[in-house]
This record gives sequence, C-alpha cells and structure tokens, in this order.
Amino acid sequence: MSKCGRSLPAPAARAAKRQFVAEAVKDNLIGVHALVWCGGWSKEEILKAANGSREAGFDLIEIPVFQPEVMDAGLTKAILSDNGLKASASLGLSLDADISSDDSDCVSRGKQKLISALNFTQRAGGTVLCGPIYSAIAKYPGPPTAQGRKNCVLALREVAQRASDVGVTLGLEVINRYETNVLNTASQAMEFLADLNASGVTVHLDTYHMNIEENSMEQAVRTCASALGYVHVGESHRGYLGTGSVDFQGLFHTLAAVEYDGPITFESFSSSVVSPDLSNNLCVWRNLWQESSDLAVHARKYIDAAWTAAKLTNVHK
Ligand code: MN
Repeated sequence: MSKCGRSLPAPAARAAKRQFVAEAVKDNLIGVHALVWCGGWSKEEILKAANGSREAGFDLIEIPVFQPEVMDAGLTKAILSDNGLKASASLGLSLDADISSDDSDCVSRGKQKLISALNFTQRAGGTVLCGPIYSAIAKYPGPPTAQGRKNCVLALREVAQRASDVGVTLGLEVINRYETNVLNTASQAMEFLADLNASGVTVHLDTYHMNIEENSMEQAVRTCASALGYVHVGESHRGYLGTGSVDFQGLFHTLAAVEYDGPITFESFSSSVVSPDLSNNLCVWRNLWQESSDLAVHARKYIDAAWTAAKLTNVHK
C-alpha cells in the first residue's frame, strides 16, 4: 500500500499490471521469416506467406532478398498491406560479392547487391534491412584481413547513408564462426558500430547463433542493448521453439529488463521448404518440420507466452 493509503485493491492492481503487460507486448512487432512458408517469391508464394502469417497472428514478414532484381516490390507491398502485415528484409552476401573482401571489384559487387536489396526493401514498404549484410555467408579459411575489414566499414558507411536517406534501418546480424569471420559476438558488433560511426545502423541478434558463440543470452543482450534493433528467435536445431537447447527464458527476461521494443522474428528452416539460394548456404540438410502452419502457430504462441511471462516478471521487480 502506498503512503497515502489510496493504492488499488490487490485484484485491481493485478488487472492493471496485466493490462500494462498486454499493451507492452503489443509494442513489439512479432515477425516470421518467409522461409517458414515458401522458398521463392512468386505471386502465389507471397499470397501463401501473407495468408499464413496473418492467420498465425504475426505482425510482420521477413523477406529474404537474395534476388532483389527479380522480386516484385510493388506486388509485395500490396499483398502485405491487404493482410495488415509489415515487412522487413534480410540477406547475406556471397563470396563473389563480398564487402569484407580484399578485392575492390568484389567489394563493389557486394555494395551494389546491398543497394539493390535496399531499394527493394524501401519499395516493398519495409523499414528494416538486416542479416549478415557485412560479409558472405560462408565458412572462411581465416580471419578477415585488415584491408578486408576496412573495406567492409567503408562500404557499409556508404550503404548506411543511402539507407538513412530512404528511411530504412540497417541491422547487422551477429552469426556464428562457421558462417562469417567478421561478427560472431555482440561485443564485436559494438566495436564494429563504433568504427562505422554511422546513424541508422543497429545490432541484430539471433538466438541460434548466440547459443553457439555467447557466454549467455543475458550477457549478449546487455552488451548491445543500447544498439539492439532486431532479434531472431530460432532453436538450436532451427526447428520447433522450445524443443532444443536455447535459453529462451534468459533471452526474453533480459529483453524485458532492457525494455527492448524492436521486432522479434521467428526463424526456422526445414528441407520441406527449400530456397536454392539460401538453404545450401545455411546447411539445411534435413526435415525439422513438415507443416508450415503448425510450426508458425506454435511459434507465435510460444513467443507470446515467453514474452508475457518475462514482462510480468519485470513489472513485479
Ligand atoms: Mn538469423
């Protein structure tokens, strides 16, 4: 009871807290990666992804933009709008178009790829372009060279300026050592952002990768809390949430504690839905699930329960 003796009776106070939490949970866009639904981006595939995402209760679809030149941004925007969905976009580069390369032609090709992806994102109505946009998704034979890292910073600074001009935020996804040699930890991402010195660039964390590289979910989130702009939730095997070894409780409780208000997007891959460009890069060799809808509905409920529990715990502190 407060000093003036006019605090709400306990049931009313609990109801008020629950209302607060319900509102707070609504503040975060909850997204789903398009590869849960489809491997390409034809009209039929966009419709399938949009319908499925809406029916499962998601707010946002993350679109992999590996081939921005053949993807229809206008159609994407129209279909997502019809379904009340927002868009984000993501990609990783390839070894022949890699801004962390020593080779200036290779860097130029990577920069051009990022500009194309950025243009698609903006025309499709997206406000975030994320993923490992600073290197190829590949197992590198050694650490980045000093020249390669410098090329990466300079190229991204230019892309960041362009992104800022068109109102798109960039997210640098921290991924594991077998898929990049540039950013494997939240701490490295913060150092990189300091070198980049550009506005509109955030850190993008992913539980699948954090589970491999970080000391804990809590430490990683707290390390980059001031710059955290996007979060992927994925299991240790990239299948159904809650059936692997990822510490989702640690993740959500820390996100609540630092009052993270950005998108939280479910990412999962199975050989039952295959994108030729992405699946091989991500080593998707086996079936983790068969039914997109069942997986997506389960993920949406799992995120809601975990996030609500974390917010409630935070309110009670
Ligand atoms: Mn990810």
